Amino acid sequence: MPVFVVHEHHAKRLHFDLRLEMEGVLKSWAVPKGPSMNPADKRLAVMVNDHDLACAGFEGTIPEGMYGAGEVFVWDSGTYALKAGSIGAGKLEVVFRGKKLKGVFALARMSGKEKEWLLIKKHDEYADRTFRLKTVKG
Ligand code: MN
Repeated sequence: MPVFVVHEHHAKRLHFDLRLEMEGVLKSWAVPKGPSMNPADKRLAVMVNDHDLACAGFEGTIPEGMYGAGEVFVWDSGTYALKAGSIGAGKLEVVFRGKKLKGVFALARMSGKEKEWLLIKKHDEYADRTFRLKTVKG
C-alpha cells in the first residue's frame, strides 16, 4: 500500500502539505487551510515540487534562511488506495486510511489552471459535517 502524509508546516504562513506516494516520490500539494472531513468544504491544494519518499516521516525545524523555514509536524499519515484517475488526467479519487483522514477524497485540478487543485471529502460513512481542524502544535 502506498503511504500518504499531511505535514503541518509553520512556515511564514501556516499551511498543510499533503503528500502521496506515487511513482517512487511524494507528489505534494500545499493546502493553506488544511484538509477537511466535511464534504461541504472545498480546499485549495496547490501542487508543489515532488518530495523524496524519505521525507514522509519528517518532523523538525527547517532552519532560518532556508526555503520553508519553520516547524514541521506530521498532522496525519497512513496508507491510501488510488481508486480512480491520475495526476495527468487532473483528477484523482483516493481512499485514505489515516488516523484523521479516512475514506474517499477527490483531488481535482481546477479548469484552466496548472497548479491549483481542490481537495474535497466525498460523502461516505467517515464524512463529518462538524469537522474542525486542530493543529498538532496548538
Ligand atoms: Mn510546506
